[in-house]
Amino acid sequence: MSPQERDLPAGLHPETEAVRRATARSQYGENSEALYLTSGYVQPSAEAAARRFAGDEEGFTYGRYGNPTVASFEQRLAALEGAEACMSTASGMSAILMMCMGLLKAGDHVVCSQSMFGSTIKLIGSDLAKFGVESSFVPQTDLAAWKAAVRPGTTRLLFAETPTNPLTEVCDIAALADLAHENGALMAVDNCFATPVLQRPMAMGADIVMHSGTKYLDGQGRVMAGALCASRKMVTEKFLPVLKSAGMTLAPFNAWVVLKGLETLDIRMKAQAAKALALANWLEAHPGVGRVYYPGLASHPQHELAMAQQSGCGGAVLSFDVKAADADQARRRAFHVLDAMQWLSLATNLGDTKTMCAHPASTSHGRLTEAQRQAAGVGQGLIRVAVGLEHTDDVAADLDRGLSTLPA
Ligand SMILES: *Cc1c(COP(=O)(O)O)cnc(C)c1O
Repeated sequence: MSPQERDLPAGLHPETEAVRRATARSQYGENSEALYLTSGYVQPSAEAAARRFAGDEEGFTYGRYGNPTVASFEQRLAALEGAEACMSTASGMSAILMMCMGLLKAGDHVVCSQSMFGSTIKLIGSDLAKFGVESSFVPQTDLAAWKAAVRPGTTRLLFAETPTNPLTEVCDIAALADLAHENGALMAVDNCFATPVLQRPMAMGADIVMHSGTKYLDGQGRVMAGALCASRKMVTEKFLPVLKSAGMTLAPFNAWVVLKGLETLDIRMKAQAAKALALANWLEAHPGVGRVYYPGLASHPQHELAMAQQSGCGGAVLSFDVKAADADQARRRAFHVLDAMQWLSLATNLGDTKTMCAHPASTSHGRLTEAQRQAAGVGQGLIRVAVGLEHTDDVAADLDRGLSTLPA
């Protein structure tokens, strides 16, 4: 479904596309894009209805298949990612499910990083395994391990997320896309952390860009949303049929919120990344802090790659280890820092204007065994900070309440 787009000249900059790209205005000339709350569409004639349901004519038929507000969000995100088309979904996870249902069958093989979002590992590694889809999980930054995991003839998809959560490990998108294509596979990138403002994976050779719109695209932590950007052919032939039969449709209201969120994505990402860098520098100099994980710091192992791949920006998520002698003390001290905060949000979401702090070892990575957690590098002293738009001095002062009074 690609309903009539607004008449805009070619070659507009992403900031302009983010504000202007949408479906055509209604006869009322609304300046802010309309929110169409309707599940059905009145058809002009029985013949037209037949053509539309057969896919021979543009036009909306039923809310599960498409909606003008949802289409505006899809057209805008596709423009930002430099993709021909986009298919939105109810959440980031349902976008991954749509991608796998559309592209894979029993016997096919997927290679993913072992540092991917926890639910992604569960969906691909366990849930899809029940349907005969095989998978391998490899170290994020080890290209040789990705190579060794590819099974020529059965590997259909390489799927990476960069930077990762919570340790901000960065992988080389162009190198992985080459590896995928040399083996007849597709390259998909979860671009949730960097967003198209900092990183455009299609330009580096990726075939599919996946989003959790719940994070920076919304930007104020209000609604769930997801999306897949790809070629028009892939969207219409592989993803649209899944949407029609499985119905992971994005609600029009949520699409409208995320559509409006995209209008400020550029200034939010740049401002939040600048504040994250300032906070990372402050943390690195703090005597109560061990290692700081942030791609914008020269001490980050993939700093140069990150700067080349992410428009010279580290993104807005960082993590740090509270200094401690052992795991027990580390956990006690990390909890102390989180509980000493007066107004920073103790929350596991990210991508909000409000800075959120979390303890990954007992929340997002809480279901892992201690050995798995150690392999993932997520220690008991690790605190993740999703940096928002507050003044850095205030954020630092709220973290310092605990960091300067660490218990024994
Ligand atoms: C949150 C998140 C997801 C899942 O998105 P939902 O909208 O919560 O379903 C996937 N990948 C990354 C990197 C995320 O942070």
